[in-house]
Amino acid sequence: KRTITRLPDWLKTPIPSAGANPEFAKIKADLRGLGLHTVCEEARCPNIGECWGGSKEGGKNAATATIMLMGDTCTRGCRFCSVKTNRKPPPLDVHEPENTAEALARWGLGYVVLTSVDRDDLADGGARHFAETIRRIKAKKPGMLVEALTGDFRGDLDMVKVVAESGLDVYAHNVETVEGLTPYVRDRRATFRQSLKVLEHVKTVMGKEGIITKTSIMLGLGEQDEEVWETMRELRKVDVDVVTFGQYMRPTKRHLQVERYVTPEEFDIWKQRALDMGFLYCASGPLVRSSYKAGEAFIENVLR
Ligand code: SF4
Ligand code: SF4
Repeated sequence: KRTITRLPDWLKTPIPSAGANPEFAKIKADLRGLGLHTVCEEARCPNIGECWGGSKEGGKNAATATIMLMGDTCTRGCRFCSVKTNRKPPPLDVHEPENTAEALARWGLGYVVLTSVDRDDLADGGARHFAETIRRIKAKKPGMLVEALTGDFRGDLDMVKVVAESGLDVYAHNVETVEGLTPYVRDRRATFRQSLKVLEHVKTVMGKEGIITKTSIMLGLGEQDEEVWETMRELRKVDVDVVTFGQYMRPTKRHLQVERYVTPEEFDIWKQRALDMGFLYCASGPLVRSSYKAGEAFIENVLR
């Protein structure tokens, strides 16, 4: 089988340095000592300058970061993901919800994405821990916009409800890929249909207008265009508001290989198609991650 080794030019981006953006430098300095684990830094995300340095126009603070809750060890093993796996990760830190809220209240962010590993070892999958963290953030800093990017809670919709009702602004759950590739890409406990049910249930609980739902799709795993269309149709059927598209990047040689590098022009076309299909907004580009400039997008499209 053909292996792609050369990276196209549009993916060769330097990691931004603090010097380029004063806001970014300030947030980075503030982060020291707060004890938060940002995915942005740990995954060395190339978007960190844009996200952390989000605009503050019109009194709205768009600075965005992604925080990892519930440890660094996942009970699942998706074939695209480099997070370490163990059936029995260490117990939850019961102080994490309060400490996270406290740290976030002091940090200069406007929009936070809370995400976590999947914790199938816990009876509630960590849903209450998520919800508690959100409640405490909103209590300390009501103006902070909060997005939760959760797993599927093994399809336990009561747990989806626990998070959906916790006071967050955006509920995100990623389908990651098209239905046909799901068994090869995601852990076998995750299914496309189960993920759709999670997204659908959030709207059932909160009402169609009561919350924004969001999902992410990686391109370049071997999906056909028609499968991507079909995925978008399925997502719209359950009223998913926001979709993002990014290039799948292989974390190590032990992970799934990249089948194709999708061009920036194709990403633009998918974005336009998503908007034409009625998605409220769409971030789409080779380096886009589900949380890419999420604060800017929310402020522009929801709060406007
Ligand atoms: Fe990675 Fe999430 Fe899959 Fe765990 S469930 S292996 S964190 S993608
Ligand atoms: Fe952080 Fe997500 Fe932005 Fe990357 S895309 S810098 S992980 S918020």
